[in-house]
Amino acid sequence: MHIVDLRSDTVTLPSPAMREAMYRAELGDDVYGEDPTVNRLEEMVAERLGKEAALLVVSGTMGNLVALLSHCGRGDEIIMGHLAHTFLYEAGGVAALGGIHSHTLPNLPNGMLDPQDVENAIRDPQNVHHPRSRVICLENTHNRCGGAVLSPAQMATIKAIADRHGLAVHLDGARIFHAAIALGIDVKEIAAQADSVQLCFSKGLAAPVGSAICGSADFIREARRNRKMVGGGMRQAGIIAAAAIVALEQMVDRLADDHENARRLAAGLAEINGVTIDPAAVQSNIVVFGLADPTISLPQVSQALAAKGIKINPIDKAHFRAVTHYGVEREDIDRTLIAIRETLAELA
Ligand SMILES: *Cc1c(COP(=O)(O)O)cnc(C)c1O
Repeated sequence: MHIVDLRSDTVTLPSPAMREAMYRAELGDDVYGEDPTVNRLEEMVAERLGKEAALLVVSGTMGNLVALLSHCGRGDEIIMGHLAHTFLYEAGGVAALGGIHSHTLPNLPNGMLDPQDVENAIRDPQNVHHPRSRVICLENTHNRCGGAVLSPAQMATIKAIADRHGLAVHLDGARIFHAAIALGIDVKEIAAQADSVQLCFSKGLAAPVGSAICGSADFIREARRNRKMVGGGMRQAGIIAAAAIVALEQMVDRLADDHENARRLAAGLAEINGVTIDPAAVQSNIVVFGLADPTISLPQVSQALAAKGIKINPIDKAHFRAVTHYGVEREDIDRTLIAIRETLAELA
């Protein structure tokens, strides 16, 4: 049975072109700066995002960690949403490994932070009681806010506050290309509203491993040292970079198909009795939906769907998250809708 796996876009397998590129990749020791494929990828990322320099890292988690270690010293504070990936899902690395203090503000449902909240959260640098505010973190698209897309204009309101107070803006852009495709703009316009950006090759872009961070040349010099410190110096990493290059060249424009499939799924779900969803809130490749009947257990629904070849996980007690990606076709969405309709009828 063909499995439709909507648990995450991290389940994507590399394309045949990626496997071929990995096989043929020219390699060297990247810790000596001698892997030509890594060097090419880092130049490509910097150029695509309009930044001076970029750095290949193992994962999105390592990218955010290394970026924040590079901006902050021990006891410094980062301001971020309470639903930020960095706050929820990165094992508290900034605190455990960086001694960095997290100041969370309520995320708005559209993935943004309230600019007034941000302004109020910034500490008085003269007051010895306060940690030092250093960085404001944004996330675009916003995973826990259902793939919400932040526009450059929204981001600019936060960047202006950061600039006024001498803080940096770090963007967790794990899905920055999804945001750019959803907005129909150049990814540079989004990246321009942040001092540093983390982006994932291993999500919807379908590369097997890897993320990059980018920013100023000074920032990346510091980040290269911090990457080594956390064990992320990777020798013949061109084997990974080769697939990431193919991801940038061949997998960005097709994200529009994933967005269309997500809209199709959301529209279909809205027609199913017992499902609660706002299809208008679906802006990219993530679809969050709930069940009208609070007595139905979500894990039980997941199990019943898995038996029909559909994998979807709950993200909390009341909601599922379905993620469209490379390898999920329009017919798979239609099969998913039938399976959900049948399952809810069986459990009702
Ligand atoms: C997946 C993800 C990350 C972390 O990436 P990993 O490669 O899984 O460590 C960071 N931020 C966001 C928004 C993500 O979705």
